[in-house]
Amino acid sequence: MPIYEFKCQDCGRLTSVFVKTMDASYQAQCQHCGGRKLERVVSRFAYRKSDETILEEYGSEPRRLEDYKDPRQIGRWVERKFSEQGLEMPEETRKMIDAAREGDLPSPLKDS
Ligand SMILES: [Zn+2]
Repeated sequence: MPIYEFKCQDCGRLTSVFVKTMDASYQAQCQHCGGRKLERVVSRFAYRKSDETILEEYGSEPRRLEDYKDPRQIGRWVERKFSEQGLEMPEETRKMIDAAREGDLPSPLKDS
């Protein structure tokens, strides 16, 4: 059953409504103050779901700074993504990763 979420124009709070069909005659009412000036908002659930989809499609990058400090970790994620998709890594990318592993870190990380 679809969940519709409304934001109350009077008190600014959110009201979630379960409805089978959303027709023009439907009149939502604020659960908090009883107000009827409600504005339809895209549900937070939908946003979260699309975030997960993006992560599934692009994979997650290493999040810990330690992963970047260890030269052996540099480029590992990139290598994996290329091999997963059966693609050959471009020469430029290969050179960048090799240089980084030899200690030539991108400047923002040098001082950390
Ligand atoms: Zn309200």
